[in-house]
Formats: sequence, C-alpha cells, structure tokens
Amino acid sequence: MISVKSSREIELLRKAGEITGACHLYLIPFIKEGITTKELDQLAYDFILSQDATPSFLNYDGFPGSICVSINEEVVHGIPGNRKLRKGDIISIDIGACYKGYHGDSAWSYPVGEVSPKKAYLLEHTEKSLFEGLSAIHDGCHVGDIGAKVEAYAKKHQLGVVKELVGHGVGSHLHEEPDVPNYGHEGMGPILKEGMVIAVEPMLNLGSPNVYILEDDWTIITADNKPSAHFEHTVLVTKDGYEILTKR
Ligand code: MG
Ligand code: MG
Repeated sequence: MISVKSSREIELLRKAGEITGACHLYLIPFIKEGITTKELDQLAYDFILSQDATPSFLNYDGFPGSICVSINEEVVHGIPGNRKLRKGDIISIDIGACYKGYHGDSAWSYPVGEVSPKKAYLLEHTEKSLFEGLSAIHDGCHVGDIGAKVEAYAKKHQLGVVKELVGHGVGSHLHEEPDVPNYGHEGMGPILKEGMVIAVEPMLNLGSPNVYILEDDWTIITADNKPSAHFEHTVLVTKDGYEILTKR
C-alpha cells in the first residue's frame, strides 16, 4: 500500500528534505580535483549531524558510508574511499538525511572542473529528464506517466536508461512503495494521490543502458564503461502538481 502522509509527517519530510538539499549545497565548494571521496563523506556526515539529523545511508543494509559517490562510469552506490577526484571527472553524490524518523533522498551529478562536451551533455540532459518526469506528477496521475516522460526524453537525446534501479516512495522508511521506474507507459502503474511522497531518480548513460555490479557488492557500473549521471529529488504529490522537498 502507498501511504498518504499526515500533515505532521509532511512537515518532518520537508525538514529532512531541506537538510538533504542543504547538504548538497554545502558540499559543492569541496568538489574539486584532489579531494578524496572519503573526505566528502566525512564533510556530509558532520553537516547532517550538525542539523540534528542522521545519514540515512550509513549502515543501510551494511552500507559503510554516509553518502554514495559514483564517479564517471559508476552509476550509483559507490563507496567513499581514498580515490581522489580528477579534473574532467563527473561525480554523482547521493545523500539521504533522516530527521526525527523521516527521510529525504536526493542525488545530483557534478562536473569536477571542466569536463568533456559529451559529459556536459550527459549532465545537462539527465537533469532535464528528472524535471520532465516530475512534470507528469499531480493528484490522480499514474506512476507510469513519470517513467514514460523520462524514457521519451532520454530516447530523444540518445541516452541509455538504467532499468535495474528505480525511484521509490519515501517516508519513515527510506524505500517505500511504490517503485518508480524511469521507463513505462502513460496510464499504467499505481495511481498517485495528494499527500504521497516519492523519489524520482533517473540514471542515464552516455552509452548502452546495461550495468553490472562490482565485486564490492555495492558499486553499479556501466557495462560499456561509458559515463553515467544520476539526478534525484524527493517530492510531495499535490493536487495540481508536486512540491520538491529536497530543494537546493
Ligand atoms: Mg538517493
Ligand atoms: Mg532514492
């Protein structure tokens, strides 16, 4: 069952989302050549704690970091470590913050210094595909309406849609019903109602949509080693549209 949130729950989700969005903004000045992904992880951990929240991902199914950091051909779920960012990399940072038992979830991909035109194209259009998907949301829409929009946009721009990973409901659990795929058909899938909260999160590849998982059992990478980008907002479904909870 997809839960409709009470006004109290929505307030807490708004606060959790605010902290998540603010954490992204806090990290941006540090996303530079030479910093390690572990250092970014520590900065995020300290920031989230300073906001009276806790990192949603830390120890989630045993995940060892506070944030996921996925570089270039890494799609999602990269583990923070000693790798240093290099000029020309793109880095996807996925952040979750839990405030008084409720979660915010938002991913964003960033260039490290100047990146190739192809990588810049990937970033621009993956971000736009997120807003395309969000534009389908209103009370009474179907989950398939969102995926159909993302998929059509990606196809138009010759980008591969990762299908193995999907968006999801958000609430007192980080991952709730329903699944929100980045593909689908208009009018199909569960109906969304005012007061539901979901994370929409397209993952688009510069090459083929195929991915696989590394031996660390977490990091997902593209099968053809071409770059991938990931943009995600947690949103509240409203009567006429949606409200972004992870504002930035
Ligand atoms: Mg996320
Ligand atoms: Mg998510």
